[in-house]
Amino acid sequence: MRKSLPGIAQAAPCVLAATALVAFAFSINAQPPGGRAVHVTLHEGTNMAAALSPDGRTLAIDLLGTLWTMPAAGGVAKPITDISMDARQPSWSPDGTHLAFQAYRSTTWQIWTIKSDGTDLRPVTSGPYDDREPAWSPDGRRIAFSSDRSGSYDVWLLTLATGDIKQITSAASNEFYPSWKGESEIAFVSDRREKPGIYTIAVGPPASTSAERLVAASDGATAAAAFSPDGSMMAFNVIAGGRSRLMVNTASTGSRNIADPDEDVFPFRPQWVSPSEVLYTADGKIKRRPVAGGAARVIELTADISFTRPPFTPKRRAFDRSGPQPVRGIMHPVVSPDGTRVAFAALGDLWLMPIGGAAQQLTHDASLETDPAWSADGKSLAYSSDRDGVMNIWVRDLQSGADRQLTRLTAAAMQASWSPDGSRVAFSDPEGQIQIVDVKSGAVSRAHEHLNEAGRASWSPDGRALVVSSLKVYSTRFREGTNQVLRISLDGQPDRWFEPMPHKSIGMREDYGPVWSPDGTQMAAIADGLLTVWPVARDGAPQRPPRAISTELAGSPTWTGDSRRILYQSGDRLKIVDVPSARIVQEIDPHLTWTPSSPTYLLPGTGGPNPLRTKTIHAGRFWNGRADTVQTDVDVIVDGNRVKSIEAHRDTLHAGTVIDASHETVIPGLIEIHTHLSKAYGEALGREFLAWGITTVRNPATNTYETLESREAYESGVRVGPRLFTTGEPFDGTRIYYAGGTSLDDTGQLARVLGHAKDFGFDFVKTYVRLPDLMQKRIVEEAHRMGMPVTSHELYPAVVYGADGVEHIRGTSRRGYSPKISNLSRSYRDVIDLLIASKMTLTPTIGIQGGFRLQTMRDASWIDDPRIQKLYPVSIAQRWRDQTRTAPSAAAMDEAARLVAPQERTVHQIVKGGGRVTAGTDAPINPYGLSLLMELENYASGGLTPVEVLRTATTVSAEAMGAGADLGSLEPGKLADLVIIDGNPLTNIRDLRRVKRVMKDGRLYDMDSLLHR
Ligand SMILES: [Zn+2]
Ligand SMILES: [Zn+2]
Repeated sequence: MRKSLPGIAQAAPCVLAATALVAFAFSINAQPPGGRAVHVTLHEGTNMAAALSPDGRTLAIDLLGTLWTMPAAGGVAKPITDISMDARQPSWSPDGTHLAFQAYRSTTWQIWTIKSDGTDLRPVTSGPYDDREPAWSPDGRRIAFSSDRSGSYDVWLLTLATGDIKQITSAASNEFYPSWKGESEIAFVSDRREKPGIYTIAVGPPASTSAERLVAASDGATAAAAFSPDGSMMAFNVIAGGRSRLMVNTASTGSRNIADPDEDVFPFRPQWVSPSEVLYTADGKIKRRPVAGGAARVIELTADISFTRPPFTPKRRAFDRSGPQPVRGIMHPVVSPDGTRVAFAALGDLWLMPIGGAAQQLTHDASLETDPAWSADGKSLAYSSDRDGVMNIWVRDLQSGADRQLTRLTAAAMQASWSPDGSRVAFSDPEGQIQIVDVKSGAVSRAHEHLNEAGRASWSPDGRALVVSSLKVYSTRFREGTNQVLRISLDGQPDRWFEPMPHKSIGMREDYGPVWSPDGTQMAAIADGLLTVWPVARDGAPQRPPRAISTELAGSPTWTGDSRRILYQSGDRLKIVDVPSARIVQEIDPHLTWTPSSPTYLLPGTGGPNPLRTKTIHAGRFWNGRADTVQTDVDVIVDGNRVKSIEAHRDTLHAGTVIDASHETVIPGLIEIHTHLSKAYGEALGREFLAWGITTVRNPATNTYETLESREAYESGVRVGPRLFTTGEPFDGTRIYYAGGTSLDDTGQLARVLGHAKDFGFDFVKTYVRLPDLMQKRIVEEAHRMGMPVTSHELYPAVVYGADGVEHIRGTSRRGYSPKISNLSRSYRDVIDLLIASKMTLTPTIGIQGGFRLQTMRDASWIDDPRIQKLYPVSIAQRWRDQTRTAPSAAAMDEAARLVAPQERTVHQIVKGGGRVTAGTDAPINPYGLSLLMELENYASGGLTPVEVLRTATTVSAEAMGAGADLGSLEPGKLADLVIIDGNPLTNIRDLRRVKRVMKDGRLYDMDSLLHR
């Protein structure tokens, strides 16, 4: 039966002809004004798979997630699928009429088939599980594939005529990459711990034996095997130790590698094209190689790609606001048990607001307070504060106003949750453990070992269990899953998972529930963006499916003590809903404001101009962010928060405050374009960036309210920190990984989250790796309409849809391998040419892909830098020190270098070709701030000049954020963000580490003031 393909008609009207049209490669409609026309002719494919038709005449390839066919001898490839399917790993039917492949049309991988002329496209599997890696049986009647249907990957068998699906393997380990050995045996790869490798299993009549037999042990990542026509030999790819091998195995001689020593063999099933020759993909090419030894022969490929990028101009941010602004960073509101008051955190402090009254500030200090939690008697609040240097749990007695420190840990204690009897507080630590502190004694005990960023715990009424929203994965092979309710017993019983809505996320972890009602009869959590409640048994087991009681996006649900009402946060408001009737009974506007703390333009008290607002920086060396060269002896005149003029030094220019940098180099403040701000780093986080010369950060993927709290705290002067460009929660498919990830399916949630992005004025939008391409397209269109750039991990077809940026050369990919980079860290011309031609920005993040580690192996002296010692949580600095304690072996250094150098070369090729690279790090994977400088050092060692390197963290990034008119360079009228460096980073990029002073928004910070609170 042919299923309809929702969305396919709208898939790509301006891009290319739909599925069935194969006569012409691509056609473009009229170009919209301003759109960039992109034409590239590709001869290489990164991590491309290929399959030769049974008659030996046609090759099928999956270049860029599109299926193409081409002559077996080489030549022009023609697409047979549209660009939005993410079609991968084709396998021919034995009669040569059809291809089976895996595709990601909706929110899971499914097996599809298509006629080789591009007609008769249909899914042959469906459902909430991932089905991958099809292998068509020699008799043509069945397709073997791998699937996570059983809680781990296993091999399954589809009978095409009936649609019956049968499980073939059943071990608890992962079994995948099936291939046929004759009619009645399937080989597969198993990651079983005791003996990983390639196994075979018989799939004859039901009565036949099903014993699994190891046919080749493996010491690395192994891909699908292929058997020679007579079944006597087997070929397969193994990647280990930074090397890739093409193995040929015979029963008599064992396994031997026939690949060239430095060959980059791609991780797909090779194919025997004769008893003596295999076809495979490697080095971006399709190749044939004699198994007896000898050189490979390349089959040349030509594939034309043409499209027009939709025109887009990002909105311009207002930097010069003055006067009171509404506070939008209201974090973690919690209702008092009697339902009369709300506590929350904002602008770095705790607040208490009588419902219907004005919020009062409970704390007034330079430290960061957050995550308030009520005691059941309503007399106390537990919260996190870094008052003693680390985010520890404190308790405020609301009657006396006294604060008491409850934990004294060296790592952040967050997400406090008070036991019903008031004797204990549960919290989470940076290791992902759930801990419990005894309120009287302060003794800490562990309630649960590491969880992946579980949400805030909620107690059972009897205090004998906790429930948290926790990631439940579909297998250990891939990291994504859905958030489900994990019940943690505190009296020694095993954990239990509750799945009130199977395959749907319950809560987004963080602060989205589940919250157990005080009377124990119900739970509440956010699902599909809405507040839902469901009845539960005494042990917490769901008794009916969740029912939505909000019609709008909701977060931070808390119950009143009578278990009748829930407070939640939606947009700028707090709402109280009567649970039985689902009616909103109170809507609360906190009415808080903050005021930007720009340098004073007017002299206090006089209303006249303030002479002190003028600053002259006398720069011995000066680089403006654009020029190819450094100027010497320059005066930068700053008026308020903007640059007024830049001129050759004259004594008469030394008016106002004169800053002598005559022995230093002045450059624009650096932009870190990919970092996630963590509240666990406390108040010092903002100073960490400035201390490394970073005056602007872009935060892709974060809790909306937490990131706005940071921005408001930095802009109001409550805390010292960089300018912040931010998005909110990332948009993802149904399966997610990180806490806070928005899991989207075809329900109405997409429109709601786009509305949220608009209401909160996100600077840009981040989409994540399980989002289907067609949803990506819609999000790009809507975000652009709102003036917001869009970035993701995806290159193609995102680039066609107009996505503005791509994060990470590698990064997570739903495919399990990257279409942007091979396992040996090499990107081929498809990736490089698309980036150059489209001008889509790339944030390489080489640092998290081995670059930071390699540099640290070579020189770990950064550990002793006072900034590392003074600004980062003690436990984190200690962990870094521990990691560098053992000297790396020469082999480890060699492998690390071999995996980093190709990434540096890719950056070099893109920049030299005219592409746009923006420097970012994905901190805090590596240290905030420092990691950006080391990322830049990677670009330099790839061969870019210092000026080219510095542009990736200044002008190019500013333009990518739509802030080129205000940031990125030092020119008259630009914002006064600059770094004074003791040394010259334009001759030695490592001198960037020698930050002496930093100016942000016209305000000057010396290193000493940044090192101390
Ligand atoms: Zn001067
Ligand atoms: Zn990231």
